[in-house]
Amino acid sequence: MKSIERRKTRRIYYDDVPVGGDSPITVQSMLTVAARNVDEAIGEIESLVEVGCEIVRVAVQNSEDAKAIEKIADISPIPVIADIHFDYRLAVEAAEHGAAGLRINPGNIGGEEKVRRVIEAAKKGNIAIRIGVNSGSVEEEFARVYEADPARALFLSAEKYIGMMERMDFEDIVVSLKSSDPTVTIEANRMFSSAYEYPLHIGVTEAGPALSGAARSVVALTILLIEGIGDTVRISLSGDPVNEVIVARAMLSSMGLRDDIPQIVSCPTCGRSWIDVQAIAEKLERRLMGLKKSIKVAVMGCEVNGPGEAKEADIGIAGTRGGAVVFEQGRVLKTITGDIVESFAEEVAKFVGEK
Ligand code: SF4
Repeated sequence: MKSIERRKTRRIYYDDVPVGGDSPITVQSMLTVAARNVDEAIGEIESLVEVGCEIVRVAVQNSEDAKAIEKIADISPIPVIADIHFDYRLAVEAAEHGAAGLRINPGNIGGEEKVRRVIEAAKKGNIAIRIGVNSGSVEEEFARVYEADPARALFLSAEKYIGMMERMDFEDIVVSLKSSDPTVTIEANRMFSSAYEYPLHIGVTEAGPALSGAARSVVALTILLIEGIGDTVRISLSGDPVNEVIVARAMLSSMGLRDDIPQIVSCPTCGRSWIDVQAIAEKLERRLMGLKKSIKVAVMGCEVNGPGEAKEADIGIAGTRGGAVVFEQGRVLKTITGDIVESFAEEVAKFVGEK
């Protein structure tokens, strides 16, 4: 595969995770629970980390949430970013309580003086801020531009807030320009990328339920990534955020943008299938997606065609009347019965250990 040349950006850090520069494109997600529900938040983070999430964001809506960041960040193996709207004091409080970064939309924080207070807190905590501009929250002054050219309005909003932060001598900035319309998202990010070197968090906002949302996100993100645009990605989907991470990682590995992510492939099934390919593939995906290995794993319905059709896979299984056969590069090695997912996951672990 022809390698993609990434646009040059500055590098910032969320804790020890780099974003931008020539660092790997990271995958992030957002918790579905508020920060104050610490145990649930930790549980969600663990599930996300299991499938390879590298940065997580949590909504901070009150002081209790802001304080809870400290407990979550203490336990979380990945950086925790506080997401704040409207109230600058919550951003300050989250920064003081161990947030690895802040996400704000300066347009709804309440003016330059309040943004300054947030910047002071970020400087003190040595953390980065993402300027998150969304099509739904473009300021009044850009409303007319938005009507004619929504991508330009997103770009101009980001430009205004960057100018504000630069005047405050703050450059640990990540920017996102999101619309629920993929074409607007693409255009806004292109504009930004040709004008600035701040790292870009790319995503399509309010993308939708799992399948159509994934399609809408991936179509926009793939185009941007092929053009070398994007330093960290979030696929926004309704429902379990684990799906967001799986989609994002599958996208990056399929594009050759990460060489440390497994690829799980499976056949569409037909009348020859002996096993529940979909259920097995989905369970395996959850088990294996978090591995830091470039490995192609196949789940095929039948031993008649499976091993041959999936001979490009490093390791795979194909259904049989009583269980499944395990194959490597199309060569059948052994038979497994009983709990196919469990037995095959062990085979993959052995294979990865031997690699
Ligand atoms: S691998 Fe077997 S079950 Fe799956 S689509 Fe091909 S022939 Fe059908």
